[in-house]
Formats: sequence, structure tokens, C-alpha cells
Amino acid sequence: MNSQNFNGLEALTRLRQDIHRHPELAFEERRTAGIVAAYLHSLGIEVHTEVGRTGVVGVIPGKTNRSQRSIGLRADMDALAMPDHKPVPHRSTCEGVMHGCGHDGHTAMLLGAAAELARTRAFDGTVVLIFQPAEEGAGGAKAMLDDGLLERFPVESFWGLHNWPGVPLGQAVIHATACMAAVDYFDIDVLGKGCHGGMPQEGIDAVLAAAHIVTALQSIPARNVHPLDSAVVGVAKIHGGQAYHVGPEVVTLSGSVRAHKESVRALVEHRLHEVAENAAAALGAKVRIRYQRNYPATVNDPALADIASEVAASVLGAEKVVRDRLPSMAAEDFSFFSRERPGCYVWMGNDDADHIMSLHHPKYDFNDRLIGHGMAYWTRLVSRVLPVAPHL
Ligand SMILES: [Zn+2]
Ligand SMILES: [Zn+2]
Repeated sequence: MNSQNFNGLEALTRLRQDIHRHPELAFEERRTAGIVAAYLHSLGIEVHTEVGRTGVVGVIPGKTNRSQRSIGLRADMDALAMPDHKPVPHRSTCEGVMHGCGHDGHTAMLLGAAAELARTRAFDGTVVLIFQPAEEGAGGAKAMLDDGLLERFPVESFWGLHNWPGVPLGQAVIHATACMAAVDYFDIDVLGKGCHGGMPQEGIDAVLAAAHIVTALQSIPARNVHPLDSAVVGVAKIHGGQAYHVGPEVVTLSGSVRAHKESVRALVEHRLHEVAENAAAALGAKVRIRYQRNYPATVNDPALADIASEVAASVLGAEKVVRDRLPSMAAEDFSFFSRERPGCYVWMGNDDADHIMSLHHPKYDFNDRLIGHGMAYWTRLVSRVLPVAPHL
């Protein structure tokens, strides 16, 4: 590594830690977006702000544009509503907000790659840098698409990466197809009839019906979904009742549904309604269901995944690229991009002796040693996908 690169990595580490100290929630990434835009401006890169509210787009033309091709590299910028319990100098200064998913690191890596790509421009075509807001649940990728991202910056493919605890630093995991699940949210109001706790025969017990529904919902992944397909149905909240001796009128169950295949997602949604309605009916209760489709599944394009693997192998070594790991049941809104155009989303190992916490853990921290891997991956990916045209 030459001294210029080393100085660059030091500066990017400081930048990453500065963003970590000042985390911002979904669609509030104004300071972060300002840093990104200023950094890109300083490199002479064309910058577009407020794409999808707080998103930023940078456009780098290659030395040539014979192919007229264009690709999108994506980083996310938002933090989480959670405490920061790390005893480090760059700990969050914003109470209850923390970069618990490493999006500060993704932003720094893509900025580092932008500097290198703007300096060399050793590619043919156009690189579109996408700094998206609101990955954590609020669908910032969709907001950018709804704001005309593809019409304004017509890329042929989308590329993303995420640091990955549970994978050693220096390794990459690349799935040929599905890598992250679709996620939907549901609320089920179980409607009973209130009564005196000592006179249950006068009422309809919403708590008992809710308990049956919670149990019965588990029959969907166990007995309706094909055993070799994947699905999760989880009740995460139960709210109802106020007193020891009053049977409540309403109990609300809330949770999530996850699946990798659209057909499984639709099956689970359909059965959730049937199971809840009929389990409630067996006990004399009714249900009112709100079902909200959230993020689609993130499914890699197999050809792009092969290219990403080849590039990751050139950065990390062939033996460090894992192709057969099971996908995650967590969700990721990169899926909105990869639903529109072929996409590839890569996991990059975050773990070393000082970084062992999982994503969204209050002591999680992005591993700054990963910045160099991400930068090298991005820059080599561009020269691999948009090779300089041979002289005719
Ligand atoms: Zn996250
Ligand atoms: Zn994340």
C-alpha cells in the first residue's frame, strides 16, 4: 500500500468516525448528506442532492463513453433509534441514535472509491454513486426511485454491499440468488367481549383467543410452507388488558412475516388471515387485520454475482470468497433497486478480535479495517464491469 492510499484510509477512518459521532435517523440525514455532497464536490464530481428527500447522487464519467453504459453503486447513510454502549472516543453524541448497522462505514467506503474513480476515470461509461437515506425500515431506496432516480440516472445494474458480523474480516459472502428476505408487518386486533373477571361466561375472552392465534400462526411455516422453503412468522408484541379482574374487549398482536420467494410470501399472507380468523372464531372472537407489505426479497442476479465473486477474489483472495452460505431472513431495501434492474448485494466480513458484536447490538461498531476492502472492491468492480474500450 503506498503512502497516498494510507493517508486516504486514515482520512476516511476519521470521516467514518465523525459520521458515527453524529448519527441521523431515516430521512433526517441532512448533516451526513451535506458531508457526502461536499466531499464529492471537492473531487469535481457532479452532485445531485435531495433525491428521495435526503439522498445524494454523484455522477462520474469515464475517460471514454463508447459503450454508453452506466452502473449504480449504492451506499446507505441512516442510523438506528437505539443506544450506543461502546466505550470508544467516536461513540454517538446523539442520545438514543446510533450507527448500529455500519452505514457510516458504507458511506465512507463509497466516498473513498469515488475519490479513486474520479482521479483515474479508468473506465468506459458512467458510474452513478447512490447515497440513499432511510434503509432501516422507511424504504429510502423506494423514495429515490419514486423521485425519478432511474429516469434521471438510467443505470443498467445496481451494486450494493453490507459489512457482515459473523463473517471474518477479509472474507466475502456472495449468494447466487436470494440473499435477504422480504419482510411484511401485521397487526391483528382480536375482538372479544369485555366482562367481570369472575364472570367469564358473560364475555368472550380476547386474551385466550389471542393466545390460540399466536400458537396457531406457527402452523403456517411448519405445515403450509414447503419444508425446503423458508419463512418466518413471528408475533413480537401483545397488547391488551389493564386490570387483574377485567376481561378486555381487544387484544392486539403485532409482528412480522419473512420469506425469500414471492409465492411463499403470498401463501403466508393468505394463511395468516385464515388462521387468525378461524382460531378466533373457534373461541367466539373476531379479528381485524392490518397487513402491510414492506421490503421485497433481495435476490442477486446470478451473472452479476459471478462477476462480484471474481472481483472480490481479486481483492481478498479466491479462498476468501464464500459462495454457499445460507441467505439471511433479515431484510434490506436494496431489493427495491434490484427489483428494477439486475443487482448484486455482497456481504463483507466485519469480525476481528475487537469487532464481534452483531448488527443492531448496542456495542456494535463498524470495523474501519474494512474500508480499504470496500474501496478496492468498488474500484475493481467498475473496471471489470465497464472496461476501458480497446482502441479501434
Ligand atoms: Zn440494519
Ligand atoms: Zn444495514
